[in-house]
Order: sequence, then C-alpha cells, then structure tokens
Amino acid sequence: MATFVTRAQWGARARRSSNTNITPAGGGVSVHHVDGVRVARTNHADCAGQVRGIQNHHMDTNGWTDVAYSHLVCVHGYVFEGRGEGQRTAANGTNPGNQNWYAVCGLTGGSASNYDPITPELIDAFHMAISRLRSSGGAANAVNGHRDHVATTCPGNLYPLVQDGTLNPGGGGGAPAWPGVYFRQPPVMNHASVGSWQSRMNSAHGFSLAVDSSYGPASDSACRTLQSRAGLVVDGVVGPDTWNATFG
Ligand SMILES: [Zn+2]
Ligand SMILES: [Zn+2]
Repeated sequence: MATFVTRAQWGARARRSSNTNITPAGGGVSVHHVDGVRVARTNHADCAGQVRGIQNHHMDTNGWTDVAYSHLVCVHGYVFEGRGEGQRTAANGTNPGNQNWYAVCGLTGGSASNYDPITPELIDAFHMAISRLRSSGGAANAVNGHRDHVATTCPGNLYPLVQDGTLNPGGGGGAPAWPGVYFRQPPVMNHASVGSWQSRMNSAHGFSLAVDSSYGPASDSACRTLQSRAGLVVDGVVGPDTWNATFG
C-alpha cells in the first residue's frame, strides 16, 4: 500500500494562483516520467528534495504557477501531492490535454535501453494517485501517456504499462471478450460490438468517433492509428489482437 505525502510534508511552496478550469470527466489521467535521464533516487530520504527541485524548476525557470503535475510518485511507493484534485495541470502539452486530463509523473526516467527500473512500489503509488484523482477529482477511468497528446517519448518504459492496463487501478482484467467477428470495411459494417469498440476508442485512446455501431472509414482510420501505436500489423481490421489492445 502506497503512502500519501501532503504538500506540507514535502515542503512545497505555495502556488502562485489557483486554476480550477479542468474537466477530467472528459478524459482521465495521463502518465509521465522524466524524459532523457535516469533520476530515481536510491534512498527515499532524497525524494522530497527531488520533488522540491522539480517545483522550483517549474515555477522559477518555466514561470508556471506551481509544479506542473497533479501528483508525483516514487519507486519507494510514495505519492507526493502535486497540484492535486480539481486543479488544472500544465504538463500534458496541449490545451485539450490540460483541460481534460490530470497528470501523474513517475520519479523515474531515462531513454531507450537505459531506464530506471520500474518497481512494484511505483505501480502501487500510481494506483493510489490515479484512484484519488477519480474519487476526489472526478477523473474518468481512462489512463493514457504524455505521448498520446504530443510527439514525445514520455513516459518511456512506463508506456507499455499504460497500454496493457498495469497502471490502471481497475487493471486490464475487465476487458470484454473479443466478439468473434472481424470488423473491416468497405463496405460499412454494422454490428453492435462496433459501438462498444468505438466507445472504448474514445474513452481510453483519445479518439472522437461517432458511436454508431457502423464500422466505416473513420473507424478504419482510428483502428490503423491504434494498431500503429500498439506495434500491431496495420491493416484496419479489428481482430482479437486489436480488440485486446483497445480494451487493455
Ligand atoms: Zn511527460
Ligand atoms: Zn522515494
């Protein structure tokens, strides 16, 4: 079980101003890490100072009103309170991203082939942070990554855990079974399960499909985008692998 660390406990500076203009029921929670360099501390005693340093950087160098993230989580299983529930983030890179999504940053980093290891305690801390943002902050159940908003490698080695549901407190276990029908077009294909798939594409993957149970060109295009992100064969056909990638 993770441990929550309040702003007072980690020695946060006061935010310069409050901005409650966030509508996370239309999005969810976005996952971040520290891009490019390994940053995980060996000793947890050093983590609070690390969070203070990030806040100073965001306020003094970037000129923001506060640390950008809703919460920050460390490999030792602690959740450091960031802007918190009900506050707009500055971390997701786009106005829609900051409007609809909270941001949780893992205090891990690196680049391909040299990442900080991901610990079970870190995953526990993500679960606690995301659960709070839902129960107290009104976030929808979707979890995505910074790279789903803008071109970035963030959140690095955490992204596969976003995609497979590991970082989602609900897990990936609630996924409905593949309906046994391949969705493909042309011609436009109508099937009730297409609606379930379209809804999930919107809620979990940031698409804006009409949920009309008709698999046409827009669904085909979204399918190909998802397949590309997930490293699947890009053929515009929703079979078992693409279905599982959609609901994972
Ligand atoms: Zn990021
Ligand atoms: Zn720590």
